[in-house]
Order: sequence, then structure tokens, then C-alpha cells
Amino acid sequence: MKKILALAMAAAMSLSLAACGGGNGAASSKPAASNPPAASSTPSGSTGGGTQGSGFTTVEPGKLHMSTNAEFPPYEMLDDSGNPIGIDVEVAAAIAEKLGLELVVDNMGFDAALLAVQNGQSDIAMAGITVTEDRLAKMDFTDSYATGVQVVIVKEGSDVTMDNLGDYMIGTQLGTTGYIYASDTPENGGYGEDHVIGFETGAVAVQALVSGQVDAVIIDNLPAQEYVKANAANNLTLLEGTWVEEDYAIALQKGNVSLMEAVNGALNELKADGTFQNIVDKYITAG
Ligand code: GLN
Repeated sequence: MKKILALAMAAAMSLSLAACGGGNGAASSKPAASNPPAASSTPSGSTGGGTQGSGFTTVEPGKLHMSTNAEFPPYEMLDDSGNPIGIDVEVAAAIAEKLGLELVVDNMGFDAALLAVQNGQSDIAMAGITVTEDRLAKMDFTDSYATGVQVVIVKEGSDVTMDNLGDYMIGTQLGTTGYIYASDTPENGGYGEDHVIGFETGAVAVQALVSGQVDAVIIDNLPAQEYVKANAANNLTLLEGTWVEEDYAIALQKGNVSLMEAVNGALNELKADGTFQNIVDKYITAG
């Protein structure tokens, strides 16, 4: 339905140009940048781990703090012992290793995970985070590492279609692009706030579909598939087609150019040497 992929890519590209350029480029990447982030949370930091004085600092010396919302399988979820696992967690661990740091996962709500990185309380945020124009105004993003496709979950036999969604009640996860776009005005391609309920997690939104509180759930494709599988007894299904296509990337505090270069460099190395794909395959082919 919507397609913001091009926008996201253009934004990510201008961002990396700005990051390389140093000097007087892109007004947007300067302002918050040069000011020290949220005073209290920035102890003098560490100089990247083992490797040659790479110049970046982290919230806690020797550690790479990742804020996330471990409610988004297979990107991030908790295992049976309550430990965070998933594609984002393993990619972050591999990035940390490349930088000579130890990964620390800070699990919190989705909105809180985005705020933590903006405020300098975490070094990176990874939570299947879509790059959007609004978010680019508040944080910086690495190159994209995945295409996110949002889909619509309904009950089997439901009358809801991609085209009449606006006549129904839609469940989403609060703070996500599903919520932001769906609750926008019809002129902007949304359905209006009256048609959308934002739930704390995607799982709770799906429970609201099962109980009849909403008629459809808009959510990213991979979690959607997991939720449909987990609710096999409740006859849920995905509408054919995609609702929106987006780019996922790693968020960093605005203006943290040296850490951005280090993280983006590590991410691209992991893509190039096949490590990234191995992690994705492990989670996506596992089911
Ligand atoms: N990709 C969506 C967003 O960034 C949802 C992410 C999530 O629920 N973890 O808003």
C-alpha cells in the first residue's frame, strides 16, 4: 500500500554521506551532535576495545549497550530462561565482538528503547527499527540490514481486506510504524485514530484480535508469522499482499560519528563475510 522504502534509502544514503563528509555538510546531522549527550549518562566512556585507538566511546567502558524490546520474534525475544536471543541480538553481539566490546542487552518497551539511544543511555538500539523521516530527525541510523514488510493478520473467514481496513478496528503495537501510519488521517493514507488501538506489545494486539476487540492486526511480517503459528488453535491468517515496505537499521545517538563509523563498518563486514546471513538463516529457516 504505502511505499516508503525509497525515502528510507535516500535518507540512509544522505546520512552516510554526511558521516563521511565531516566538515560543513548536512545541517540535520549537526545540531545535537556536538553537544555532549545527556550529561549524567555519559561517563568518560571507553575507547573501543582492543583495536587501534578507533576513537569512539561507549556508555560503559568495554561494553556495547543495546536497548531493545524483546517482544519481536525472530529479531528479539526471550528464551525459556529469560535471556534475550534473536537476529538483532546475535548481530549486535557480532558487532560488539568486532569492536572488542562485550554486548549488554537492555530490554525495555519499544518506545523506551528508542529513547534510551537518543538520550545516550544505550550505544545502539536494535528492535527491527524502521528508518523513518521523523526518527531520522531524532537519531542516526546505520545502513539498512533488512527489509521489513508489514502485513495484516485477520481471523480466517473475516470480511476484512486490504482495501476495506479503514471500516474496521485495527490493532497495532504502540509506537511502531504500524501504529503511526494506521492512525494517521485518511488524507495521509491512514485510517484515523478512532480506528486504531495501540497495544503494549504485538502479542497483546494479537490477543485482542483473538478476543474480538479488534478485527485486524497490522504488524511486521516475521513476527506476524510467529504469532499466527503460536495461535494455531485460533484460526488466524495473513491477508495476501503487503501493507507497507520499510528498511530496518541500527539506531545510534545523533551525531555520534565515530561510533557510527565503527558500528556501520562492523555491520558491513558481517554482511560481506556471510556471518550476517548465517544468523538470519539460523532464525528464519529454523521454524
Ligand atoms: N518496524 C516497526 C517499527 O520500527 C516495528 C518494530 C517493533 O515492533 N519492534 O516501528
